[in-house]
Amino acid sequence: MAVDSQISRPIPDIEKNKLYGPYFQGLQNNKLLVQQCNKCEHVQWPARDFCNRCHDSKLGWKEIQQSGNVYTYSVMYRAFHPWYKDRLPYAVVAVELEEGIRMLGSYFGSDVESLECGMRMKASFDKVNEDVTVLTWIKDETK
Ligand SMILES: [Zn+2]
Repeated sequence: MAVDSQISRPIPDIEKNKLYGPYFQGLQNNKLLVQQCNKCEHVQWPARDFCNRCHDSKLGWKEIQQSGNVYTYSVMYRAFHPWYKDRLPYAVVAVELEEGIRMLGSYFGSDVESLECGMRMKASFDKVNEDVTVLTWIKDETK
């Protein structure tokens, strides 16, 4: 099906999600960043105002590997936004990365119905505009 280029992709509101600023900045630079506690070094995702382990509020950011295994996924057959209409079916995939981090992203491969739990995936960085890059997953064929 032809893709309608007049419709803009829905993007996260980076101004509203200041807690995730370093994450979005990392995506702009083709990096995956997650929170890490400066006190106990616990790594966590999603981002929070404090450490899940020691409750300290001094958190930094750490770059993590960009590939992992499909933990779970859901194939979408209906578009929640017009931009997705020409891209159906697509999947929302939770990929398990190092340290138990599970990160959500879309998968737009034409072979979406061949996804399986445990499959190797790697990050792809889709530059939507000058300010926003979003994470999508692609199959990691190197493994
Ligand atoms: Zn901590």
